[in-house]
This record gives sequence, structure tokens and C-alpha cells, in this order.
Amino acid sequence: MTTTSTTPMPAWLRSMLQAKGVISETGLTRNAGIRTHRPCHAACIAGIDDNGFDTWTDPTELTPTGELQALLDGRRTWDLHAHRALTLRTSISIQHRPAGNPARPVLAQHRCHQPIPSSWAMPPWEPLAAPPSTEDDECPF
Ligand SMILES: [Zn+2]
Repeated sequence: MTTTSTTPMPAWLRSMLQAKGVISETGLTRNAGIRTHRPCHAACIAGIDDNGFDTWTDPTELTPTGELQALLDGRRTWDLHAHRALTLRTSISIQHRPAGNPARPVLAQHRCHQPIPSSWAMPPWEPLAAPPSTEDDECPF
């Protein structure tokens, strides 16, 4: 018998991984990734956070003001680290590591059918400007 990625996980393996906290009952892992939220079919970044809870976030990077607006809206926020871990933002992390760092995007709690307003989102990153051409033969002075 050949095992493929579409083969369901054997029940004994799922139970063992759940008991060890490697995966949640819904199949999330500590490596956050793009998942479809089944109730609303929205694309989310989901995983088990640093407190061991299933976490569903909107995949929109927040600005510092956007994070404040999300918190005032009653949404929790998380840091998404390069190693795909989600850590819950606290008053200390909000104060000392404000949102807006491209190396560690801040994401807000997903709410079905309530996407993050564009005014909360970081603008798209601009590509670096091309270096000045060195093919110009004229003296600049
Ligand atoms: Zn949803």
C-alpha cells in the first residue's frame, strides 16, 4: 500500500500527536500556514499559538494604528515569526515591538465575514529602486 498526501492520517497517529500537542483536534500545527476557514471559506493564516490555542488570523499585516483599531474592535493580535510561529501580542510586546516590522508581521484575529478594513493594513511593499545607471558617459559636474 502506498501512502500519499491525500491519505487520511491514521487515527492512532492523530491521537498520539494530539496527546503530545503537536497538532490540535482541528489539525492545526505550531507551523502556521495558509488555511481555508471552513465556516466562511476565507483564506487565513492559522496555527497553534504560543499558548497552545487554535488561532485563525486574517492574512493582512497591520500598521501600529491598525493594531490599535483591531484591539479596540475586540480582536486579539499575534506576531507571525519567520519560523511560522504565532505568538499572542501582549501590552509589553505592543509597546516594545510595534507593528510595521516586515520581519515579523502583526496579524489580527479572524472574524467570519468581517475582513480587516484597508485603513488598518500596511501598504504594499514597494520594490527597491533600481541603482543609478553607470552607462552614462557624461561627467556629472
Ligand atoms: Zn471565517
